[in-house]
Order: sequence, then C-alpha cells, then structure tokens
Amino acid sequence: MHEPYRDTMGDRLTFDRSAPGRQAVTLPALDVPAAPLPEAALLRDGVRLPEMDQLGLVRYFTALSRLNYNIDGGFYPLGSCTMKYNPKINEDAARHPAFAGMHPLQDPQTAQGSLRVLCELQDFLAAITGMDGATLAPMAGAQGEFAGVLMIRAYLRDQGQTQRTRVLVPDSAHGTNPATASMCGFEVVHIPTATDGNINLAALEAALDERAAALMLTLPNTLGLFEQQIEQISARVHAAGAQLYGDGANLNAIAGQVCPGDLGFDAWHINVHKTFSTPHGGGGPGAGPVAVKRHLLPYLPAPWVTREAGDAGTARGEPHSPLPRFLPVTPARSIGRLSLFGGDFGVLLRAWTYIRMLGAEGLREMSAAAVLNARYVQARLRDAYQLPYDRPVLHEVVFSGARQRARGVRTLDIAKRLLDFGFHPPTIYFPLIVEEALMIEPTEAESRESLDAFCDALLAIAREAEAQPDLVKGAPYTAPLTRLDEATAARRPVLRWRGPASASGLPAETTQTPRDPSR
Ligand SMILES: *Cc1c(COP(=O)(O)O)cnc(C)c1O
Repeated sequence: MHEPYRDTMGDRLTFDRSAPGRQAVTLPALDVPAAPLPEAALLRDGVRLPEMDQLGLVRYFTALSRLNYNIDGGFYPLGSCTMKYNPKINEDAARHPAFAGMHPLQDPQTAQGSLRVLCELQDFLAAITGMDGATLAPMAGAQGEFAGVLMIRAYLRDQGQTQRTRVLVPDSAHGTNPATASMCGFEVVHIPTATDGNINLAALEAALDERAAALMLTLPNTLGLFEQQIEQISARVHAAGAQLYGDGANLNAIAGQVCPGDLGFDAWHINVHKTFSTPHGGGGPGAGPVAVKRHLLPYLPAPWVTREAGDAGTARGEPHSPLPRFLPVTPARSIGRLSLFGGDFGVLLRAWTYIRMLGAEGLREMSAAAVLNARYVQARLRDAYQLPYDRPVLHEVVFSGARQRARGVRTLDIAKRLLDFGFHPPTIYFPLIVEEALMIEPTEAESRESLDAFCDALLAIAREAEAQPDLVKGAPYTAPLTRLDEATAARRPVLRWRGPASASGLPAETTQTPRDPSR
C-alpha cells in the first residue's frame, strides 16, 4: 500500500537528520562588536537546534507541505467553516510592499493608503449589512461576538437597564455564542429549536422578560436554514426592551440578497474569512468585523477609522489635496481596544480586494451560487442519508447518519472512509441538536464535477455501510496514520518528541534547562 508519509518522511524529524557542523545558509562575518543579550532576558542557557544542509532542509519541508490537505489541493466540505477558494490576487495585494512594509505604529499621515482601505472596508461592510457603521478591530468571529455583546452591555448600562443580566441563545448556535455571553458576564438561557428548524417562538416569548439583555441569533442558522419568523422575532425582542445580536458568520449565504439591518438586527458580526475569501483553518488567521446601528456607534472599539472630509492640505497652503484625511479614532463611549494594534490588516486587505473585484452584482452571484451548490448536494444525497430538517437549505446542509448508525456505522466511520476516496471529511457531530450530524458546505467555489465526485463517494460509502459495515468501520486504509487513540491522546498527551535523537550524536536532553523567569 502506498504510504506517502513513510515514503517521503520516514520517521525522522529534523533532529534525527541533524549532523554536527552542517549549515543551510552561510552568514557574512560579523562586522560589528558582538552584543550578548542581557542576562535577565535569557530564558534558558542553551538551545539545541538541528544542523542541516539547505537542500535537505528544503526537501524536508516540501515533503511535509505535501502531506497537508489544503484548499488549493482539494475540496474541503467543512460545514460552518466555509472553506472557499482564496483568489490569488488577494495574496498579491497583501504582499504588496506598500502594504506589507507598513508599521503599526506609523504616523497616520504616512499611512493614508492603508487607512483608506480600512475606512472603505468599514463602509462596504456597513452597506452590505444595511447597518450604520462597522468596526474592523476584532481578530476573529468569536472576538466580534465579544465586542458586539460588550457594546450592547455598555449601551444598556447607559440606559440604566442594569437588571438585564441574561442573553438568550438558541440551542443550534455555535459554541462561541454562549461562551461570549458568559465571558461578558451574562447568564445564558438556551432557547430550543422547533421541529421545522426555526426557533421555538413560545419558548422565546417566555424568556423575553425584563432580565433579557439580548437574543443572539445566527442567520441563516447552523442548520443552513433561514429563520422564517425573523421579522416577528425582531419585533418581539425590541418590544421586550432587549437587543437583537446577529451571528453573521453565515453571511456567505445571504450577502447581497437581504440586509440584516432591514431585519432589525442591532449588531451583526461578519467572518470575513468565511464570506470574503481569506485563507483560514487550523485556528486562523481571521477577522470578525462588527456592523452596528446608530445607537451603538459611540461604543465601537478603538481604533475606528474616520474620514475627515475637508481639505487639510489646502489649509496648509498646499495647492491641492486630493485625499480626505483618514484617521484612527476612539469613539466617545468606546468599549476600548481588543488588541495591541488595529486588527488583522492582511486579512482585511484581502477582504477589501475581494469585494472590489466582485462588486455588488458579483457578491449577489456568489451567495446565489453557494445556495445552489448546497441544494444540489442536498438533492443528490437525500435518498441515502437522513435529512432531519427537510427544508430547502441555504449555504449548507446537515444530514444525520442515523440510518447508517443502525447498521453499526457511525458518522465518524463515514468521515474516515471519505479519506480513502481522497476527500477531506465534512464537519461532523455539529450542530449538537442533530444525531450523528454530517454537515456539508460546498461553497460557491466548487464546480459541478467536484460536487458530483464528492456525492458519488458519499453514495458509495452509504452502499458499503449496508453491505460491508466492517469495511467502513476499519477506514481509513490509505492515510499515513489510521485510527488514533483519541482518549489517550487527550488524557495522556505526548507533546515532546523523544525519538531516536541520540543517533545524530546529540544527547536527547541537552542544556535546555528552563530558567526561573522571576530571577
Ligand atoms: C465560525 C463561526 C463562529 C466563530 O468564528 P471564528 O472566526 O472561528 O471565531 C461563530 N459562529 C458561527 C455560526 C460560525 O460559523
């Protein structure tokens, strides 16, 4: 059997490949006096590093990179994560020296181009969501939620509404929603989902009392369904004196089709890495801008970029000032800073590029195609896998592996078997309200051919689960590592390589004695 990992890598890490005296680059001789680091700044006495030649090093990392499944290499149907393609022009923009060479502490006068990008992106996002303004400061969706709920908390406090100590969260929500509410000091009240996939309105009504600060609603929700009672919900939430927070991580499904602002949302975060094509995965990078209605603008985090229409140049006697001045400011009642600097600039620049490339019409086509693709997958797989909420979906579709479970095949087995067909598995066991969930999000980026190949694989696996369940349960057969002992990995993790290091002539444990940082 072909084992790409062992073929290219063996079991040897850089330390095992190390040979004393080998060097990958030759540095020029030092032409200034050597200046040792201050003793107090040293954390350890010595660092054991592998010694390798350049070609060996390049081949090692090239081989490692080939083991990595990536969006440029294949289809990535992870539901909720929205792994769409990342146009290469985004990378050109982000690498442009005029942007890449900027320093975050640079004088704003010398950073007008970068600030203009940020200011325009704020405007684009406010326009796309139908809100009055947006902040780009949050570094991820989760931090956007955190900022949004902090703004709502500050606003309610200024209104004297301090008895509002609860945040309502539907049970289909992403785990970051209850986590956010609780990090902001609120008590979380879970609202159940009705059998049709909409929110249970009676349960919501019951929870909407004078203690309710906000409802955090995901639209479309994590089942890929548009909340059909949204206008009623919005009216009820506001009548009860609470705020409507929108988890807009799924904006990819509705961008250009409907404005969250028109639906009554007061604050709405956007995962630009899921909607406006910036690379993500494995924990980052990302950005989670928040768009808000007028009453929340004074609470936006710092920095917020303003456009000083006016002619500062002319005032100084210069003949002509083509640019308005763009300035980072701190809004009057700001919740403060979310990070040391202004946000994840490289990610935001890619989002700006994507929006500028597509334009309004292109964005409408994007969300329409994302929905079409998800419905195509829904239609092709509906006879083989159970559909717990059988409604036309928007950008993603959630199946249940309950039928296969009855044959002893779990959704985890189906996911592992997909690896043998060359596909990254979809999201599994989320959302939590679906038994044996299999959550597929094709995105607008995939062609009909790649969707067909993926659906054919899942249909073949459904047949295998009927005829040869043990075959599916033993998968994968082609991956470098097969089934891992996940319980032991969690309970007794081995986080340090203790391989045959001494073979290289280096002692396995050398002088990496941690210093006492208090010294
Ligand atoms: C991805 C996602 C989040 C969290 O966003 P991060 O950028 O990963 O922090 C929150 N809610 C929903 C619905 C999501 O899909």
